[in-house]
Amino acid sequence: MPVRRDTGELETYIGYRVQHNNARGPFKGGVRYDTSANIDEIRALAALMTWKTAAVGIPFGGAKGGIEVDVTDFSRNELESLTRTYTRQIAPNIGPTTDIPAPDMYTDSHVMAWLLDEYEQLRGHSPGVVTGKPVPLGGSHGRDRATGHGCIDVLDEAMRRRRIEPSDTTVAVQGFGNVGSWAARTAAKRGYRVVAVSDRHGAVLNGRGLDVASLSEHHTETRSIADAPGADVIERDDILELAVDVLIPAAVGEVIHAANHHAVRAQIIVEWANHPVTPYADAALTERGVLILPDILANAGGVIASYFEWVQNIQQVQWSETAVLDQLDSTLATAYAAIADVAKDRGCGLRAAAYIVAVDRVAVALACVECSDCRAWNAVAISPRPER
Ligand code: NAD
Repeated sequence: MPVRRDTGELETYIGYRVQHNNARGPFKGGVRYDTSANIDEIRALAALMTWKTAAVGIPFGGAKGGIEVDVTDFSRNELESLTRTYTRQIAPNIGPTTDIPAPDMYTDSHVMAWLLDEYEQLRGHSPGVVTGKPVPLGGSHGRDRATGHGCIDVLDEAMRRRRIEPSDTTVAVQGFGNVGSWAARTAAKRGYRVVAVSDRHGAVLNGRGLDVASLSEHHTETRSIADAPGADVIERDDILELAVDVLIPAAVGEVIHAANHHAVRAQIIVEWANHPVTPYADAALTERGVLILPDILANAGGVIASYFEWVQNIQQVQWSETAVLDQLDSTLATAYAAIADVAKDRGCGLRAAAYIVAVDRVAVALACVECSDCRAWNAVAISPRPER
């Protein structure tokens, strides 16, 4: 995609949209502008969306999009031009009942507004083609805080099951973007002691607890948390090794891996970023008794709220923020209970259980097309446990 920079130079970037599966509903997945957005990464993330939407029981499939680009020095005009070009390229393949993009890394509600506007110039009024857009354009109240809110719901549920009080719990959050900042704010609001946060520029620590509200204001003003007042500066990546109860990777993938998992001291890891723990580290940490709340459950709040936004667009109604967050709480509570039941029944971790639930739902949806026996597909939510 050619983009004219403000300097007059013409640069060309490669963008992708990968559609993985739509057996349970339209393809659904975010669009990221990041140097990590290569075809393999986007394919993996598209598949993850299929399992995520199925694991939490919303009627969408899985897709992902992205542009392999560093937009941190892009002006607003350059970002708009890049977004409009990308939209024209993918317009034949997206639509309110076919494939619905949303924000992800380095894309936000403004980017979604440009995407919507460009699509509507081609196809007419279609607010349901994209979620995570501004409220005046058909966005949903509560969408911005939904991923962070949903993550804390999942953490709360785990704490409740372990009978640990939030006020006795220290938390470190890696990443202070859409997800990480809302997550840190929601955690602090619900009584957790958020002692450290980081972003791409650095990390800060205050053992007594950070003032997350003033940290957010500082971040809004400076676009960085690195020199925030009221906290000590630490090395950016040391946040992963702090002696905290809960570690929340909410930045990029594969940050906990074979070379550093032994240094992780948290007892609970909540995967707010997508696949922040590699399979090798996952196995080693689980062996050590660390509870990992998997991404396909822990960060599903964003896509669940996206579903609510799409429902509102299709029905041409607007829900209050309270209605959105209440529905989100109950959808996640139902999903957590179903996944925890399978984990107990099969004697496996929550990640394996979430995949068992998800794969089964997609398989049943695919089988329905071939099958005329309604008793068979009404009967099974989860296939019976195999004989050992
Ligand atoms: P974002 O671009 O808004 O924020 C990313 C944050 O990570 C920024 O604060 C950046 O400074 C920080 N960061 C980057 N590299 C870092 C590093 N090495 N160490 C510490 N911080 C670093 O992105 P986002 O939307 O918040 O997404 C973050 C993660 O959550 C991604 O993995 C994304 O796929 C996932 N996710 C996002 C949503 C959503 O609705 N936005 C939903 C589900 C999952």
